[in-house]
Amino acid sequence: MLYIGCHLSYSNGYEAMGKQALEIGANTFAFFTRNPRGASAKKINSNDVKKLTDIMNENKFGKLVVHAPYTMNLCSDNAETRRFSRKIMADDLMRMEAIPDNYYNFHPGCHMKQGADKGIEFISSQLNDIISPQQKTIVLLETMAGKGSEMGRTFNELRAIIDRTEYSDKVGVCLDTCHIWDGGYDIVNNFDGVLEEFDSIIGLNRLKAVHLNDSLNPLDSHKDRHAKIGQGYIGINALINIINHPAIKNLPIILETPNDLDGYKREIQILRENYNG
Ligand code: FE
Ligand code: FE
Ligand code: ZN
Repeated sequence: MLYIGCHLSYSNGYEAMGKQALEIGANTFAFFTRNPRGASAKKINSNDVKKLTDIMNENKFGKLVVHAPYTMNLCSDNAETRRFSRKIMADDLMRMEAIPDNYYNFHPGCHMKQGADKGIEFISSQLNDIISPQQKTIVLLETMAGKGSEMGRTFNELRAIIDRTEYSDKVGVCLDTCHIWDGGYDIVNNFDGVLEEFDSIIGLNRLKAVHLNDSLNPLDSHKDRHAKIGQGYIGINALINIINHPAIKNLPIILETPNDLDGYKREIQILRENYNG
């Protein structure tokens, strides 16, 4: 089953996102629990949540892939930023319990000038403070492009973080196609090989969701600039190959391409037409 959608705005609440998803042919979606810059979050209205859950059940939606704010940096060199990030993530996860059994995706963080080992240490110790064994949400580390001091470019870094996380059954990975391409994984000519490497280092059982984006830059550019589907260096054929891969084909796929809703609707339609059940 192809579960595909895009980022939607949370500003009008949960039911509004469900309706908007239906309008564009989506059966999953992503949203920021608060302004992506990280300000305060809206109060949850349980009636509104129930309406979304009804829409999702009636239309057989896949799991949602909620996105943490960009300002979160669990491994910052600034103790106040680390504390703030921990508080935001813990609060978001508490709120996620209102919509249980979905995903919460976050950027592992930037180690600034502290080095990757320090980054791994901070991220995992913060996750150990935040994740509870009872929570119904799986948190997803996003694969990153490796811009600046970004953590999570290599599968080994992700594995090292997971290894040091106590309740690691609550931790998975979201594969962003633009990011891993920019990070140096050749998903155009050797997607099977990339997945084999993912499997041997992290384990495919951890792969829970995909951000499907084309890239404005060539392989290994460490840039992270998304392109519309078919308008970048990855290209439409490789992206179609990815959504049809047996390891991917039932995962929620989120478009993060530079589009308005009509553009997303068209991309969803094109991808559906090229999906082989
Ligand atoms: Fe992201
Ligand atoms: Fe992404
Ligand atoms: Zn990106």
